[in-house]
Order: sequence, then C-alpha cells, then structure tokens
Amino acid sequence: MTRSLAWKLTLAFLLVALTVALLVALFIRLFNANQLDRLVVEQQRSEFRALLVNYYQAVGSWEGIHSYLGPAAHGEAFPRPVDRRARREFFGLVDARGVVLIPLLPEYPIGARVAPEVLARGEPVEVDGRVVGTILTPQRRFDLSPEEAAFLARTNSALLIAGAGAVLIALVVGVWLARTLTQPLRALTQATHRMAGGELEQAVTVTSQDELGELAAAFNQMSREVARANNARRQMTADVAHELRTPLTVIAGYIEAMRDGDLAPTSERLSVIYAEIERLQHLVGELRTLTQADAGELKLNREATDPVELLQHTAALFEHQAAQKGVRLEWKAEAGLPFVQVDEARMAQVLRNLLSNALRYTPAGGVITLEAARSGNGVRLMVRDTGQGIQAEDLPLIFERFYRADKSRTEDGAESGLGLAIAKAIVEAHGGRLEAHSEGKGRGSLFVVDLA
Ligand code: ADP
Repeated sequence: MTRSLAWKLTLAFLLVALTVALLVALFIRLFNANQLDRLVVEQQRSEFRALLVNYYQAVGSWEGIHSYLGPAAHGEAFPRPVDRRARREFFGLVDARGVVLIPLLPEYPIGARVAPEVLARGEPVEVDGRVVGTILTPQRRFDLSPEEAAFLARTNSALLIAGAGAVLIALVVGVWLARTLTQPLRALTQATHRMAGGELEQAVTVTSQDELGELAAAFNQMSREVARANNARRQMTADVAHELRTPLTVIAGYIEAMRDGDLAPTSERLSVIYAEIERLQHLVGELRTLTQADAGELKLNREATDPVELLQHTAALFEHQAAQKGVRLEWKAEAGLPFVQVDEARMAQVLRNLLSNALRYTPAGGVITLEAARSGNGVRLMVRDTGQGIQAEDLPLIFERFYRADKSRTEDGAESGLGLAIAKAIVEAHGGRLEAHSEGKGRGSLFVVDLA
C-alpha cells in the first residue's frame, strides 16, 4: 500500500496543499505585521506633529517643550495632551537649527547637532508655512495596541482554518483522483495476468477518453489480435494434420498390405502410392510458400513481363483439359499493354490456381475467359467463368487457408483449399491486389488481379 500510486498521489497533493498554506500564512503574517507597524507609526507621528504645531503656535517657540512632554509638571500655560502614552519615547524633535530638543536615545541626546541628511529623512514640522523643526522617527519596532494584536490573532486563526480546509480538500481530491486513475490501471493489470494465464481474449471496459482510455482500447485491440492469431494458428495446425492424414493413411495401408503379402506390389498400386506422395510434396511446398509469404520472405525474381504472354501460356497449359471437359477456353487482351515487373513463375502459379479452380467449378458447356486490360498505371488480369459461382457469404472467406465453400468435396483429394490463399499471398507480395466477385450460385465467378 505504501508504494501504491494512489498513496503517492494523495501524498503529493497533501504536500502541495500544505506548502501553499504555509507560504500564504507566512506571507500574510509578514505583510500584515509590517503594514500594521507602519500604520501605527504614521498615525502616532501625525498626532505628535499636531501636538507640536499646537504648542508652537501657542507658545511661539520650542521653549519648555521638553518639560511639557516630559514627566508631569504643574502650572503650565498649555493644556497637557490626554494620551501621551510613551510618545516621547517614540519620537525625537530637532529645532530649525538642527539641535536636538527631545532626545532619541542613544543616537541623539539633548543638545546634539543632527546631520543635514538625517534631517532630510525626518518629518518637518511647519507652522505658518515655515519649517520650525523636524521629527525624528526611531528605527525599532513599535508595540501593538491590544486591538491591533487582536486583529493579528484573528488573521492567524483565519489562516489556520483556511490551511486546514486546504489540506482536507487536497486529501479528498487526492484520494478521488488516485482512485479514478488507479482503478483502470488495476483492471488492465488483472486482464494482463489473465492473458498471461492463457485467456487470450480480454476486454477491459474503457471508461475515459484520456490516455488511460486509449491504453485500455489499445490493450483490447491487442488482445483481440492475439486471440485471433492464436485461433488461426490452431486451426492451421489442425487443418495441416487433417490434410496429411489422408495420403499417409492410403500409403500406410498399401505398404502394410504389401509387407504382409496380402497385396502384390503391382505397378498400378505403386503408382497410387507415388501419387499420394506427390500430393504430400505438393502440400508441403504450398505450406512452405505460405509460411515464407507470412514472414515476408517470399523471394521474387521480378522481370519485365508481357502480361499477354502470361495469359497465353496459362491458357495453353489448360487447353487440353478444358477441351476434355467440354468447356470453352478464351482469352482477350487490350492492345498496347505495358509490361509488368513480376516474378513470372510465381505469377504463372497464380493464374494456374485461378484457372484450375475455374475449370473445376465450371460444368461442360461453360466458358472460361482470360482477360488482360489496362487499369490506371498498371495492368488488370481477369479469370472469368460461367460456372457454379460463389455465394455471398463465402466470398470473404474463400481466400482463407483450407477454406472450401463446398464441404462435400473435402475428401476427393484434388484440392487442398490453399490455392486461393497462395495466389493472394503471391499477388500481395508483388504489391498487387486479388479480388473475387460473383453474382451468386450458378452465375459464374470473376477473379481480378490488379498489378501496379
Ligand atoms: P481449393 O483447393 O478447394 O480449390 P481454393 O483456395 O483454390 O481451394 O478455393 C477455395 C474455395 O473457393 C473453393 O473450395 C471453392 O469453394 C471456392 N472457389 C474458388 N474458385 C472458384 C470458382 N471459380 N468458382 C466457384 N467457386 C470457387
């Protein structure tokens, strides 16, 4: 607890509040005391001056001023001031010639001469427009009257209450802020622990729009991605195991029977075994290509290639097969197409995959068209068929590994469900795009390869 973020935040708030309260208290105290001092001095000095002026006007000189203000003397012509509380001790008086009349001890005893610069700093006493003397103000501090002291005390207690209030508010705000900050962090930590424990799909509730909210959203996205990748990997492993099992079962069955003398190793039987081995080799080769494409390590031998030649070569490969199946195979190309920078062998593999699919899913009497056209700065290759087409719900999935729209064909052995995934990986490795279009079942399909 002592090292938790909430604790540190609360402590920091408390510290700031306390420091501010202390500084304010200190400042106000100093400021107030000084102000009061000044006020008291000014007030008493002006009273003192009024008294002096009155005296001078009445007497006509400073004669007897000392004894007048001094310890009580009787029989004076001028009425004594009512409150002369320590006034004499406060201020000194110098006459017009600069000689001290009322002393300001210890510097200025009676009869001493005062330097002109000290006089200049003093307060002149004027009677009828003439400076008749100067009041000297002592440097030391004055005592405050009971009312003034009470005022200071009140200020102090107000400051104390304000300080306590500030600390309380800091405590409440600190705890609240710490809670709102640490609660999502704690939720994130728990979710991370659960992820580490194997529950990959985690969703932390995003409560705020700030950086913590962003972190939670990013975490959720990461968790989804990790879970998706993990599922894909698991699915892939299961699919690969499944694909390997069929040919291996066939091979093992034949060889076991031959070893036990139940079957004679005829050339036909060995051919069946060999075909299954070829199928395995093909599958392993396809998986290798996909793995390389995933890792971005698919090596491309790019050369300037004539797209029309690419089409012709692929068409020629399938001519015989198409004729046998009763499917018409056509090709057409726009004139003056630019060459494309592609790995010819890989791109031929893409077209072979597309064309063999078209042939597989187009019944007798259908037509397959290979087309090349200009598209922006690049070239667009198309494989169109009039076959069974692809249902809308299958369209986004057919490029996934091992996906077959028609599950019943799974075991017939001719297709692996990797053909389109590989074609897409190769096209994308070239920086191009492969898309499928179909109007629906029975209405043919169109595969479009866009090359930059
Ligand atoms: P497969 O080896 O099963 O053909 P592909 O990845 O090549 O695997 O194709 C995936 C699925 O897409 C196929 O099982 C099929 O359902 C569908 N498909 C591909 N091409 C066509 C096409 N020309 N016409 C109809 N369906 C197609």
